[in-house]
Amino acid sequence: MTAPLFAEGELPRYARHIALREIGGPGQARLKRASVLVVGAGGLGAPVLMYLAAAGVGRIAVVDDDSVSLSNLQRQVIHSQDRLDMPKVASARIALAGINPFVSVTAVEARLDAGNAAEVVAGQDLAIDATDNLPARHLLNAACVAARVPLVSGAISQWEGQVTLYDPARGAPCLACLFPAIPAGGLAPDCASAGVMGALPGIIGAMMAAEAIKLLAGAGRSLRGRLLMQDVLWGESREIAVHRQKDCPVCGAIKGEDA
Ligand SMILES: [Zn+2]
Repeated sequence: MTAPLFAEGELPRYARHIALREIGGPGQARLKRASVLVVGAGGLGAPVLMYLAAAGVGRIAVVDDDSVSLSNLQRQVIHSQDRLDMPKVASARIALAGINPFVSVTAVEARLDAGNAAEVVAGQDLAIDATDNLPARHLLNAACVAARVPLVSGAISQWEGQVTLYDPARGAPCLACLFPAIPAGGLAPDCASAGVMGALPGIIGAMMAAEAIKLLAGAGRSLRGRLLMQDVLWGESREIAVHRQKDCPVCGAIKGEDA
């Protein structure tokens, strides 16, 4: 006999998912069987990790090399005052165990680099880009393209954020189709120098988590080929269509199904 998918006493916590026609028992089982990689345990990673754990994603791997500092707590709600100076992946693991002890969390205390990117992406059903810098974004994108792993990507700055799903193996562009070159230093300011409104990563990160849950459960219409943009200062949102570039240096050779 094979072991049951859900542990004793686990299923009732997912009752509100199971009640949804688009998720139901089969969708919840798909979430439980899923492995998701989250790169970054900061502003975007916080809501992504917390909602994915609460949703019952079976295995979550989180990669980050930073430690919790006081200026993080304005927006990185997975961390807390009593975990200052702790590695973010360790702090995140404590928070996630508190939300849902039935989720297996792998904490990788490392910076994503050319030496580990392929290894952390291997075997994942989905990857989530919750990083805050372009070199890491491009590294993760290239590893996901090579492994044909879909990549939910979010970005924030000041009062604005954006979300999309990169998936060249299934007709959507990759990051490099949209943003081919890494800007020279100084052209893409990070949150430390530009500032960021505290609730913004909560909004964008929750949208990323929703996209991941939809994709894993097989619900609704994904953001493949669509980039959503939110400007919370002016209360405006818009969507643009995005396309693969045939000559993309990263995904040009990938044969993909149509979106
Ligand atoms: Zn591409």
